[in-house]
Amino acid sequence: MNDRDTRHQQAMQKLKAHVDGKVAAATEQRGLLLVFTGNGKGKTTAAWGTVTRALGYGYRVGVVQFIKGMWECGERERLVEDPNLEVAIMATGFTWDTQNREADTAACRKVWVEAERMLADPEVYLVVLDELTYMLKFGYLDIETVKRAIENRPPEQTVIITGRNAHRELTAMADTVTEMQEVRHAFNAGVQARRGIDY
Ligand code: ATP
Ligand code: MG
Repeated sequence: MNDRDTRHQQAMQKLKAHVDGKVAAATEQRGLLLVFTGNGKGKTTAAWGTVTRALGYGYRVGVVQFIKGMWECGERERLVEDPNLEVAIMATGFTWDTQNREADTAACRKVWVEAERMLADPEVYLVVLDELTYMLKFGYLDIETVKRAIENRPPEQTVIITGRNAHRELTAMADTVTEMQEVRHAFNAGVQARRGIDY
């Protein structure tokens, strides 16, 4: 072994000891709260990726879509046939341009009832609250209501919240917070959102 190989082997041994130590220290088993936020692309994609993971082991999953419901969504098309997946969509045509606060609030509260039911059901292993952050931002839902439902959920249940500008109380509560950072986005160069890639 030359010097470089020896140094590499020593570094790898050190790394292994470090990782083994961390693995040994992680003994707690419980459901998690994950927040995927930031301006970069990938928040909803990551949530659906995790949904696929959970379904892959036969767990029950609930997804609540708080804005994009009326929009197409490839993952939903593909996974909705799985009997372990339930999807609740904010109906009544919520869009950015309804400009109707009362109607939007009502639509939000209606689908939140479904979210609360999922968050109270110990049979549901994973609950995704996609784009929930905007509901808090617009004041359609209040943070205390959301916090209470999340805090009182079954201990084995994991929750994923997606959306930009996550409320600071949500990130404070979360076990895992990932901020997607936009380095560049094609949209800003005038490229249209692409079917099967962006939705
Ligand atoms: P995705 O659904 O692709 O994972 P996302 O959930 O992180 O994206 P949202 O803020 O929910 O992003 O945006 C929804 C739509 O806008 C998607 O079609 C997404 O590809 C696109 N998008 C995401 N980030 C940006 C951005 N920085 N600029 C323009 N469009 C974006
Ligand atoms: Mg999204």
